[in-house]
Amino acid sequence: MRVLKFGGTSVGSVENMIQVKDIINDQEKKIVVLSAMSGTTNALVTISEYIKTRDTAKASARIDALEVSYVHTIQSLFTNEEVLYDVQEYVQDIFYYLRATTAKTYDQFIYNTVVSYGELLSTYIFSAYLRQEGIKVQLLPALDFMRIDRNNEPDNFYIRQNIHRIIDELPAANIYITQGFICLDVDGEVSNLQRGGSDYTATIIGAAIRAEEVQIWTDIDGFHNNDPRFVDTTTPISNLSFDEAAELAYFGAKILHPQTVMPVRELDIPVRLKNTMAPTSHGTLITNKVHGEGIKAIAAKDGITAIKIKSGRMLLAHGFLKKVFEIFERYETAIDMITTSEIAVSLTIDDATHLVPIVEELERFSFVEVDQQQSIVCLVGNSIIYHHQTHKLFQILQDVPIRMISYGGSHNNISLLIHSDHKVATLQRLHTYLFDNVTA
Ligand code: ADP
Ligand code: ASP
Ligand code: MG
Repeated sequence: MRVLKFGGTSVGSVENMIQVKDIINDQEKKIVVLSAMSGTTNALVTISEYIKTRDTAKASARIDALEVSYVHTIQSLFTNEEVLYDVQEYVQDIFYYLRATTAKTYDQFIYNTVVSYGELLSTYIFSAYLRQEGIKVQLLPALDFMRIDRNNEPDNFYIRQNIHRIIDELPAANIYITQGFICLDVDGEVSNLQRGGSDYTATIIGAAIRAEEVQIWTDIDGFHNNDPRFVDTTTPISNLSFDEAAELAYFGAKILHPQTVMPVRELDIPVRLKNTMAPTSHGTLITNKVHGEGIKAIAAKDGITAIKIKSGRMLLAHGFLKKVFEIFERYETAIDMITTSEIAVSLTIDDATHLVPIVEELERFSFVEVDQQQSIVCLVGNSIIYHHQTHKLFQILQDVPIRMISYGGSHNNISLLIHSDHKVATLQRLHTYLFDNVTA
């Protein structure tokens, strides 16, 4: 069985839903994972922010506008009166619950509940549409099997057991539709896999059912060699290894949620990225095979904080780094990049939630400097650090003020830390000289 995930744009308009129907309507058994319709989760996040600030009028206005857009969509999607009536009722119920939350006091549970409505809406609407078109489908409610544990990791045993049980209990169908992104937490409350998490849902399910392949259908023809939002001449990459895809996703390539390849890497289940609007184009195949050498792709991650820790005494004195790392561990804050010199260590974090107490503790035995609004630019490719072209990088970047560089941590990755103001120019400059065959 395959798992096919369709992102927000793919289910974001009537035309695209028709396209998705045509892609999935063959005789093969499959699980289809859907995101919320494009724009919906962002709207729900805004609404939850208004609830947080007790801006009830603004929350209500945003809810009204969102409901109008759903009413339009379903009116143009459904020709069968009975199905239309049923879907209208479901949508009205969801908006009723959404309005009810605006009167409540904001907490994490309210946020999680509010943002879960997007996927509930898209899967209900799309499965009703398939039924209207005479296609047999079954809805698999994600909240009946998708659960995370105490460490916010997928509870694989529970997921595997329950998804099989639910499929066995349901009448047979070729197409099972489920919600991406949403799950239950360890206490059984509604939660989610973080923004962009539907990709992760797809591979978690892929691993649970030992799928032959996981397909991520989106609005672009595969993984490009640079971020197409900032660089015009990017091109798709036909093949990536799990390691390369994992590095790129972790370091900011928006096309994949950072954890996407984790569940399937060990099981060697291929992940194929495809374009819903151009289904015949090759896209990108991610497997354990390594293709080619040298710099293959560039990605960037924003919102990085750099922390420089200088020691009054000899820095690399026995036990110093241990003391530093223990502080970050205590605050469950992951370190991305790290460089050392004789008197200082510089490192980066992307989660600054506990920055203040971390700095306070570090200052007990060192001098600390913090720089925010940094970006990591990450270059990825097989054996990148040995490749004869890689030295060009340093020539190209002569004019870019690099704050840190990480080279040699793995064979696949070179990372640069720069101020976010320089990100777009750096991506463009690297692209021109590395991929557009311009000489530095
Ligand atoms: P979906 O809603 O289908 O999950 P996303 O918006 O999350 O889609 O991801 C697709 C988008 O990711 C593309 O439209 C593109 O703008 C952006 N993107 C960023 N980096 C890359 C890259 N390296 N390759 C392809 N797309 C990328
Ligand atoms: N709808 C969720 C989001 O916008 C999950 C996803 O699209 O993957 O973040
Ligand atoms: Mg996405």
